[in-house]
Amino acid sequence: MSVRHLEALFDPKSVAVIGASNRAKSVGSVVMRNMLTGGFEGPVMPVNPRGGAIHGVLAYPDVNSLPVVPDLAVVCTSAQTVPSVLDDLGKRGTHAAVVLTAGLSLLTAEDGRTLQEHVVEISRKHQIRILGPNCIGMIVPGIGLNASFAHKNCLPGKIAFVAQSGGLTTGVLDYANSNDIGFSHFLSIGDMVDVDFGDILDYLGSDPTVGSIMLYIEAVKDARKFMSAARAAARNKPVLVVKAGRVAEGARAAASHTGSMAGSGGIIVLDDTTQIVDAALNLAQFYAHESCGQCTPCREGCGWMYGILTRLQQGEATEADIRVLRDLANNIHSRTICFFGASAAMPVQSFLKKFPEEFFARAGVGVPDDWRPAASAK
Ligand code: SF4
Repeated sequence: MSVRHLEALFDPKSVAVIGASNRAKSVGSVVMRNMLTGGFEGPVMPVNPRGGAIHGVLAYPDVNSLPVVPDLAVVCTSAQTVPSVLDDLGKRGTHAAVVLTAGLSLLTAEDGRTLQEHVVEISRKHQIRILGPNCIGMIVPGIGLNASFAHKNCLPGKIAFVAQSGGLTTGVLDYANSNDIGFSHFLSIGDMVDVDFGDILDYLGSDPTVGSIMLYIEAVKDARKFMSAARAAARNKPVLVVKAGRVAEGARAAASHTGSMAGSGGIIVLDDTTQIVDAALNLAQFYAHESCGQCTPCREGCGWMYGILTRLQQGEATEADIRVLRDLANNIHSRTICFFGASAAMPVQSFLKKFPEEFFARAGVGVPDDWRPAASAK
């Protein structure tokens, strides 16, 4: 379906929260609180069968009672009710929904088909664009939209961050907030029954509020569509892709979240003005900060790589440091219990292999004769 109705999803003028609640710490309560405190200027309409008021806002008992047709619905009801809620929304004319509910692919309806299959059918029948299910939701700070149950909001900025994994999303949010990094869009897209990476790249690639796009991918369901969208978006702005699941444990973690087996590999698209050492340092800073410390190669190696790259950027590193940097990356790769270690090592290995002259120039020397064969051995 590509970008059709994605404007209703990412730039809605009114929002309904289906399953809004006053129950402390429930998803429906957190979403409602986030919607009301995010600064969104359009109407926010809670829907709860008990009616009353949710966080002080008059609630409606069902979708049919809403006084206006919402551009966007945030659905956080039980799995069994999601298909009928979406059907009601479609009949009212809503064209976008964020479905936070998990477990739709595990439960079957009376006809033997999964609830997820019903959701896909309803999405197509009514042309409702669906983000999720099984996701944390999305934040668009530029319009004050926090349609998520994230534990905190994000700062406004020019980076669009898109990930499937909810756990990683919250980790990135913590890191970004503590380092004053802002976002144009912060999207957790979960199981991608409808809106996928390709659709999002198409939309964000031509959105002038987006300066760069960062994707954290567990699995791509339509590789041809994804590559076409990535190529088009990368013509307009930098696109950085981190691919999870390179080692077995990472692939298992990815499969348990999205239900799809991840492959391996990675793409980082940077424009030709980017200093490679600076890009490597940027990434290394993130990984050094986020390593949980459980495995020695990742815990120690990420910090050491960050230290060497910092010295390189400042013109204080030597040729020997660059060799140590390569050894560190090679030692981290595939020697850790989760894919994070490999994700940290791969950009350094790749940059050293493809752009050695940029690293050695920072040390004030040319690329040594013995470097290229050794570097390409990996
Ligand atoms: S590889 Fe994963 S588990 Fe090991 S220290 Fe790094 S983040 Fe922790």
